[in-house]
Amino acid sequence: MRVLIGGGTGFVGRELTRLLTHKGHEVTVISRQPGPAKITWGELESNGLPPCEGVVNLAGENLMNPFRWWNESYKKDLFSSRIDTTKALSQAIAASVSPPHSWVLVSGVACYKPSLTAQYAEDSEWTPFDLLSKLVKEWEASALLPESVAKTTKQVVIRPGAVLGRDGGAMKQMLLPFWLGLGGTLGSGRQPFPWIHVTDLAGIIAQALEPSAEPPSLLPQVFNGVAPALNTNYDFTKELGHVLRRPTVFPVPGFVMNTLMGSERAVVLTQGQKVIPKRTLESGFQYKYPDLISALKEIVGSQ
Ligand code: NDP
Repeated sequence: MRVLIGGGTGFVGRELTRLLTHKGHEVTVISRQPGPAKITWGELESNGLPPCEGVVNLAGENLMNPFRWWNESYKKDLFSSRIDTTKALSQAIAASVSPPHSWVLVSGVACYKPSLTAQYAEDSEWTPFDLLSKLVKEWEASALLPESVAKTTKQVVIRPGAVLGRDGGAMKQMLLPFWLGLGGTLGSGRQPFPWIHVTDLAGIIAQALEPSAEPPSLLPQVFNGVAPALNTNYDFTKELGHVLRRPTVFPVPGFVMNTLMGSERAVVLTQGQKVIPKRTLESGFQYKYPDLISALKEIVGSQ
C-alpha cells in the first residue's frame, strides 16, 4: 500500500514510517521542507493528491514547544498548523480521481472534559469547554469528507493521550529532570494521566489504514489512542522514578505550571481524563505496552 503522511517527519510519524516500511508499504511524507520521499504542502495544493491507498495527518505545531511563549500568535499557529493541513488533505482526497481507501486523522483526548471520576469511551458525548477542546472540534470537523467520497474512503479519527517514547514527545523533556532526581508530581498528582507508547500508537494507525471488508460508514470511526491501564500523574511519577532509580520528591504546584506554561496549556498536565480505549480493544488491537512499567522500562532502556 502507498501511504501519504502529513507531518510524517515528527515523533509519531518517524515511528509510523518505520512500522509501515517494515510491513512492506511505501511511505511519502508531506513536509514544509522538500526532500527525498517527501512532497511539500505547496506541491499537494498545486498538483493534488499523489497516487496512494492510505492518508494520515500528523502535522501540527508542537503544543509543548519550550521555545515559544503562550501567546495569541502561538495559539493561532496551533490551530492553523492542524486545521489548514487537515483541510488541505481532506480537500485533496475529495478532489482526487482515485481517492484512497483510508483517511486517518490523529487528534487528541483534550476533547474530553478533565474529571477525577468521569470515564470516556469513544462514543461519549462531548461539547467544547475550553481552548484545546475547541481546537479538537474544529480539527476533526476539517477532516470530514463529502458524502459521495465517504462512501468509498474510510474515515478514522484516533485520539491519543500523551505519547511516550524514547526519541520525542513529553518524555524527551521529562527524562533529564527525573534523572537528576528533580522529578515530582504535577499539581495534585491525583489527576488521570492518559498515555500510550509510541509503538502502540503507530500500530493503531497502521491498523486503521488497512482496507475494511465492509463499505465504510459515512461518519468517521473514532478510536481512543490510549493504553488500557488507567493511571494518575502520581502513578506515572512514581513508576518513572522507580524505573530510573531516582527519588521523586519535588512536586510542582499547579500555580507554578500555570505561570510557566499558561493555564490554557498547563491543563494537559495539571488535569486529566480517564480515557477508555473501548473500541480500540474491541477491534482486536494487541498492545505491546499495555501498562506503565513495561512502557517505561522500554523507554529508559532497562528491558
Ligand atoms: P511533532 O511535534 O513531532 O510534529 C509533527 C510534524 O508537524 C513536524 O515534524 C512538522 O513537520 C509538522 N509541523 C510542526 N509545526 C508545524 C507548523 N507550524 N505548520 C505545519 N506543520 C508543522 O508531533 P507528534 O509526532 O508528537 O504528534 C503528531 C500529532 O499527534 C500532532 O498533531 C499532535 O498534536 C498529536 N498528538 C501528539 C501527542 C504527543 O504526546 N506527542 C499527544 C496527543 C496528540 P515538518 O517540519 O516536516 O513540516
